[in-house]
Amino acid sequence: MDKYSRQEALVAQDVLADATVEVAGTGPAVTYLLQCLAMLGVATRHGTIHLRGADRTATRDDVANQFLLRPDDVGEPLGAVLVRRVHDLDPAVNIEAGGSPAHRSLTVATPAAGESAGIAADGSVDVWGQVGRTAVTIGPEPGPDGPATPNVLTPALSCVCGGLLAQAVIRGLGAVISGPAVLSGWTEERLWLRQPGIGRHALAIGKDAPALNGVLAEVAGPAVAAGFRTLLDGEPAEARITMVVDDDTVVISLPLPAATRGVTVRPNRLPAQAARALTWSPFALPDVAVPDRLPASRVVMVGAGALGSWAGAALAATPADELHLCVVDMDGEVEPHNLNRQALYTRADLGKPKAQRAAERLTAINPKIRLTGVQTVVDVHARDQLLGDEVLLGVDPVIADQQRRVDTLGAALRSADALLSCPDNQQTRWVLNCLTERLGIPWVNGAVDGFVGRVHVCDPKDDGRCVVCWLGRSVALDPARRSCTDITGPVPVPSIATAAAIIGGVQAATLIAELTGNAAAVARFHALNGADGDLTGYRAADRDPGECPAHLLEATPTRS
Ligand SMILES: [Zn+2]
Repeated sequence: MDKYSRQEALVAQDVLADATVEVAGTGPAVTYLLQCLAMLGVATRHGTIHLRGADRTATRDDVANQFLLRPDDVGEPLGAVLVRRVHDLDPAVNIEAGGSPAHRSLTVATPAAGESAGIAADGSVDVWGQVGRTAVTIGPEPGPDGPATPNVLTPALSCVCGGLLAQAVIRGLGAVISGPAVLSGWTEERLWLRQPGIGRHALAIGKDAPALNGVLAEVAGPAVAAGFRTLLDGEPAEARITMVVDDDTVVISLPLPAATRGVTVRPNRLPAQAARALTWSPFALPDVAVPDRLPASRVVMVGAGALGSWAGAALAATPADELHLCVVDMDGEVEPHNLNRQALYTRADLGKPKAQRAAERLTAINPKIRLTGVQTVVDVHARDQLLGDEVLLGVDPVIADQQRRVDTLGAALRSADALLSCPDNQQTRWVLNCLTERLGIPWVNGAVDGFVGRVHVCDPKDDGRCVVCWLGRSVALDPARRSCTDITGPVPVPSIATAAAIIGGVQAATLIAELTGNAAAVARFHALNGADGDLTGYRAADRDPGECPAHLLEATPTRS
């Protein structure tokens, strides 16, 4: 599998590779934007990335709030070091500082304080992205100038801004694929179907990809099932349920006729779209005061993949008095298909253990971080050991070793101020929900699937919702189900750098807001729809303890 295999179903790779994109300005989001563009494969064939207005010298602030540039770049010409660091990421990217392209596909501006007027006078701009004191502004017109001095939110907001700008580039180039795309022999049209009880029933059957009509007949009656027909190219086709979203929602897919297996379905591309104006903030309330630095904090981060890479790195780049970070990952080695979105790893890391490389990279970003790396699966057994419900006998050396790892995680959790949840499966989210509810730790959960992403901010110490309140009872009733490919098995979920950067950045920003005394002002739910260029935060309703099984379980703890 090559670097771009996970984004095949999402973007037209040749359109990105041949695009000529001008990047104007040297605001704090510029490194995050360039990192996203390089990971996406922009300008890797006939296209070029041109840097405009990067002829000043790199300062300590440029280097401090990001993870593309390095400390020894301070004092060098900024444009030249940006070119060098992008080439370190991927030598295939054509990128130049200075000069102006004969033709350009798109111009993106991300100004530092005071640069907006000069950029506007220099030529037309398709999309502006600015990092403010507590918010990110994106749109076809320049927004208010950002703060002259960075604050505690600057790195996380820059990460969100860079991701949103890169997403605007994909949309502006007309490179978004609207489907269908073929994954593992199924047409993944991703049709969502709602019918009371259908998700619950599909899980109860416990069969791989059950036929829609049979399940529909059982939950809604034969008349409803008979009235629902699926056609593929005008011919009747048997729809199968390939994913359970919640109790009442499933995703259905249509199999290709046997005679056409192996053919490529030509993807539809959405037309080029103008930048959409939006303002995003981790806060639901206005005028929140934020400090310049993070107070001494202890954070546990579970998952060092797509989301953990961006959230962990943005957190590491945040000015802090003292940060203890415990990184937990269950994965093995860095693989080629990780490199299109997992910002902590490069080609040089292929084949190396992920947890170890993540710890080394995060330490390189901020040598003052106190890092612990734990390689373990966070499953129901680990939960029981962490909560003291079950004591494993440490006779078997493998079990004893796992027990030691879970003990290390337990110690980190018990002293943690907050937890970042960045796993790739629902079981881990469910276990983390149990642990944080019981231990009273605020936590931020993130999830991405293609261009779509969600962030839940949960604090057991107030009346807000937990993740099970959000995602529905099916998560709790069948916690072993996989997140993205629930019934069909381990089919790779499409994933891309823009959604990972945006959602990872949103996670870091909301976590920092929690850690800096602003929990009451934080928006609890954030929804990304990248293909539409939308990111919205919601204050959200409070929990209903009578409805959520996690809270019912909380009242009567049970052994597994
Ligand atoms: Zn709940």
